Amino acid sequence: MTFSVHGLAVARGIAIGRAVLVASSRVDVAHYFIEAEQIPAEIERVRQGRNAVVEELQRLQTDMPADAPHELTALLDVHLMLLQDEALTGGVKHWITERLYNAEWALTTQLEVIARQFDEMEDEYLRERKADLEQVVERILRYMKGVASPVAPPPSGPRRHKQLGLQQDLLLDGTVDVPLVLVAHDLSPADMLQFKQSVFAGFVTDVGGKTSHTAIVARSMDIPAVVGARAASQLVRQDDWVIIDGDAGVVIVDPSPIILAEYGFRQRQVELERERLARLRHTPAVTLDGHKIELLANIEQPGDAAAAVRAGAVGVGLFRSEFLFMGKTGNLPGEDEQYRAYCEAIDGMQGLPVTIRTIDVGADKPLDNKAHKDSYLNPALGLRAIRWSLADPSMFRTQLRAVLRAAARGKVNLLFPMLAHTHEIQQTLAQVELARAELDARGEPYGHVELGAMIEVPAAALMVRTFLKYFDFLSIGTNDLIQYTLAIDRADEAVAHLYDPLHPAVLRLVADVIAEGHRQGKSVCVCGETAGDVTMTRLLLGLGLRSFSMHPAQILAIKQEVLRADIRKLAPWAQQVLEGDEPGTLLAS
Ligand code: PEP
Ligand code: MG
Repeated sequence: MTFSVHGLAVARGIAIGRAVLVASSRVDVAHYFIEAEQIPAEIERVRQGRNAVVEELQRLQTDMPADAPHELTALLDVHLMLLQDEALTGGVKHWITERLYNAEWALTTQLEVIARQFDEMEDEYLRERKADLEQVVERILRYMKGVASPVAPPPSGPRRHKQLGLQQDLLLDGTVDVPLVLVAHDLSPADMLQFKQSVFAGFVTDVGGKTSHTAIVARSMDIPAVVGARAASQLVRQDDWVIIDGDAGVVIVDPSPIILAEYGFRQRQVELERERLARLRHTPAVTLDGHKIELLANIEQPGDAAAAVRAGAVGVGLFRSEFLFMGKTGNLPGEDEQYRAYCEAIDGMQGLPVTIRTIDVGADKPLDNKAHKDSYLNPALGLRAIRWSLADPSMFRTQLRAVLRAAARGKVNLLFPMLAHTHEIQQTLAQVELARAELDARGEPYGHVELGAMIEVPAAALMVRTFLKYFDFLSIGTNDLIQYTLAIDRADEAVAHLYDPLHPAVLRLVADVIAEGHRQGKSVCVCGETAGDVTMTRLLLGLGLRSFSMHPAQILAIKQEVLRADIRKLAPWAQQVLEGDEPGTLLAS
């Protein structure tokens, strides 16, 4: 039966495919595809994990004191029985051999399948056994976590999947090419990175806001995505056919042939529009009245530089360097490893400038892929971004030295996130000086960097003149500026309706920073998601913005807006919008 689930549109386009459910587990698990030759080793890892847990439970049973409550022994019996049940072991083998999931992913997928069967049971006692099953699977996962994977996760390139029960798609060799869409309760930014090179044609998550970092990475992948779809991961089942409408923020499950045909048509329209926009790649971004506009790219990994160049970016306006640091379970990359990554991005940009932002972890971007939400009272207001770096000066200077060295290879700007206090600015600049002195002492060559500050807390916007005394350029991070001005968590779908780039307070802060920067002859860029939002382009141009940094996938659409814009007309209109109480209504005019 067809039904739809509504969420927030975060990455445009239409995806049609079979659902792959990524189960959420209390144990942090990696999800990646293995190579066929790794199948026996992955099955063996699960077997070892299961046997270890069986032995552990049997030991517990043997050591149980004679006066232990009867319920306890009964519970251990249930756990042992579940561990040995063919539904679990056979199912896990199926996901590994047929879908090439890594062992942990296979386990959590099978857990999800059986848990649903438990949910549907009439008998309350049996229904409650679901919690036992979750416990035993988590025990296995914990055991496996302590045992290193015998093979490193391979890069997951496009591959063919054996698919079950899909007669119409069967090819002669029994395998099929079916697009897959990922459905999960939540995905961390690090998970998203892992999926970045993968096969998925679209993403759906239950939680997340439009500018959560998970949504940002999804957007950078340029595939349709919907976040904040509440119960999607409960309602969608493995292998369901799903349409993701990334423009409307709608997920259609089990669509009828007529709906499929309609969306297939729309998918082709989106393709045609992309092809049309691609013709603008080499066209300079100049407005009708002759203003040259700088369109830059936001990247998360050095490899993204290729997409930036392909899209006609004139440089990288924001390299979110923290993505180099994520998922390393506490082992931060050393200076040389970072240096190589920055050089790769610089080389990838073929002589165009690269703005590297120092590490911005914390809040919804945990380093170790664990949700820090539980461990801090209010992570968005906690030890994040520059606060994190200044709290660990040695780690910070490792990054600074790597960036300074890379600057000898090409044009590099250095950008600092989330500064709010003058003393933070002074400490930051002192660390840069110290890093230079350390390189001097080592006789290591390094290059000149322009220094910039992100304006992403209201305090920074309000004291922009102080910032301009210290920095060569400014970059407005509207994602956080909106979050902190309006006091709403950007990653929380429950308050997503209050996340408003057109709120008069936000607009006034943005306009003042642009105006003050220009008065002082310094460059001001917007690198938050509003820079890549076509509905905001005319307003930002009218407010005086001349530099926009966004996902490569957005650049051509924004260029089209720029080419149609006449700033002589937009400037007075933008002032009018700025002075209104409800800019949103004026924007349409
Ligand atoms: C921003 O806050 O607008 C920004 C660009 O930084 P991030 O999204 O990485 O927090
Ligand atoms: Mg930010």
